Amino acid sequence: MAIRNLSLILLLSCFACFLTAQNFDKVRIKPIKVTEDIYMLVGAGGNIGLFLGAEGTVMIDDQFAPLAPKISAVIDSLADTNIKYLINTHWHGDHTGGNMAFAEKGATIVAHDNVRERLSKQQIRPFGRSTEAAPEMAWPKLTFSESMSVHINGESIQLIHHHNAHTDGDAFVYFPSYNVLHMGDCFFRSRFPYVDVDMGGTPDGIIAAVEAALMISDEDTKIIPGHGDLSDKEDLSTYHQMLMIMRDRIKRELKNGTAMEDLDIAGLSKGFEEWGTGFISADKFVKMLYKFYSEE
Ligand SMILES: [Zn+2]
Repeated sequence: MAIRNLSLILLLSCFACFLTAQNFDKVRIKPIKVTEDIYMLVGAGGNIGLFLGAEGTVMIDDQFAPLAPKISAVIDSLADTNIKYLINTHWHGDHTGGNMAFAEKGATIVAHDNVRERLSKQQIRPFGRSTEAAPEMAWPKLTFSESMSVHINGESIQLIHHHNAHTDGDAFVYFPSYNVLHMGDCFFRSRFPYVDVDMGGTPDGIIAAVEAALMISDEDTKIIPGHGDLSDKEDLSTYHQMLMIMRDRIKRELKNGTAMEDLDIAGLSKGFEEWGTGFISADKFVKMLYKFYSEE
């Protein structure tokens, strides 16, 4: 039992990005004002979005279960209304870990169909790793396949699915009149992204999702990445260029017949040395791309 608990913790930490042994006691939840009525909360795991208004509070993602009391306290200090909707940008544990706690407080969870599918069943990964099904209360109650609008507090929030990007169930959350976009894990600012290829993610899907985000953004758009600091269109453009350059470099190696063990990781990630200092190292990112495109 202890070993099973340990492996669950390790798996959660893996999604936490960057730490192998999370100490949630030390995590502080920091609110950052994005614009009138919208906040980004930073703690451990994916960035949280918060939309305040008289008809109810809307929350986007919820980090890890142990952080729910701290997150709740910060939300209570900012919001006058209860959390009405909790939108999940995708199913990973560092974005949905608090689902149960917030559903118990009355939030209705909203997400893409595949988020419910993955949270409701045990997920098996290669090398015997797996993630247990979440309790039913933590599953999304309102789901959609392509897009959905949520009309609240005078805003029509747009939920937009992107096929096979970071996972198979990603959604952007766009606030058109506020010009704010939460991109979930389709955007890791200034870091190589994690692409969950075992769960339907693809690098090309991430590039397509980023291009769609660039289309709806202008120079004033505030962009909340899944991980990293609050961003703008220029930051997203830089990320897009990195993805294109890295894809081209790896495809060239494949064309030249380079074997995986002969890849020059430092050379291939030249110019992006700082990008591999997080959860996904240059080695992991290059090899993921190589493996993905070699099987294409
Ligand atoms: Zn993720």
